[in-house]
Amino acid sequence: MKAMLFNEQGGLDVLQYTEFPTPEPGEGQVLVKLETAALNRVDLWTRSGSSGIKLELPHIPGADGAGTIAGVGEFVSDWKIGDRVVINSNLGCGKCSACVAGQDNRCRNWHLLGETVRGTYAEYVAIPATNVLKIPDGFEARQAAAAALVFHTAWHSLIVRGGLRPAESVLVVGASGGVNTASIQIAKLAGATVYVVGSGTEKLKLAESLGADYLIDRSQDENWSKAVYTLTEKRGVDVVVDNVGITFPSSFRAAARGGRILTVGNSGGPKFEIDNRQIFGKHLSVLGSSMGTQADFATVMGLVFAGKLRPVLDKDFPLTDARRAQEHLEKGEQLGKITLSIG
Ligand SMILES: [Zn+2]
Repeated sequence: MKAMLFNEQGGLDVLQYTEFPTPEPGEGQVLVKLETAALNRVDLWTRSGSSGIKLELPHIPGADGAGTIAGVGEFVSDWKIGDRVVINSNLGCGKCSACVAGQDNRCRNWHLLGETVRGTYAEYVAIPATNVLKIPDGFEARQAAAAALVFHTAWHSLIVRGGLRPAESVLVVGASGGVNTASIQIAKLAGATVYVVGSGTEKLKLAESLGADYLIDRSQDENWSKAVYTLTEKRGVDVVVDNVGITFPSSFRAAARGGRILTVGNSGGPKFEIDNRQIFGKHLSVLGSSMGTQADFATVMGLVFAGKLRPVLDKDFPLTDARRAQEHLEKGEQLGKITLSIG
């Protein structure tokens, strides 16, 4: 098969479009012929080596993908050749106590497709049959692939970990990233009032089009936690979605007493100082999560397929142009998900 892979970690030029043996579906696995893959920041960290994770080289990046079943391994009875599917990139072992309890994103032997296991920048990928979900007829594969990782992550954080309830208020720190645009929509669907802090008119317009009720432009007003306080009549918000990290001090200030701070990432850097008086003094909870469970995936993709949640799409590149696609993501020029067309 053709694949976009790298033999050593480094800059964009390590990516090569070349031949790689087509994987065989093992026991309990399906072989997916990929039609589309979607990019995530983890693809950049894996390629550059900044995540510090050891890889078996050559490595094929890519967590998100959708396509058709092209082969089934032993003991797989639910799938047939030609079924259209979207991939859940969370690879739990399926056997440990966390997996058996339905908390497969807490698996002790957890892997992310495309991070430690060869991923979707290829014509084919072999994955467990329990990691694919049927795409309804007429629903675009590209939309499904673009929605998968970000909506899955945002759903687990806001609904499962965050316990978001109707009539609560949510502040999303960042207007345009994939998880943030998913969070805005999920919070609205859950019946919350949504505040978004972002930089620049274009990104905030996008947030507004997704249902955000209040927009704060941090390029105009750097002290956004004060703006939130003013907008909420000095109460603060019930929930803050902060996947930036270094913005925690402002998020603590923007939270109401008893507020929850949700985090699934650290796009602004992993280490920073916090004043813990804000945490105990305001009865705050900081709730971390990573990805989501199989049950979350089925639930949130069902809402995507029903049109209640929609991925924001940026550019589509052919797989042969994955370097340009990653460069586009690296520069932060995108407004929504970048995808790759395969085959
Ligand atoms: Zn497990």
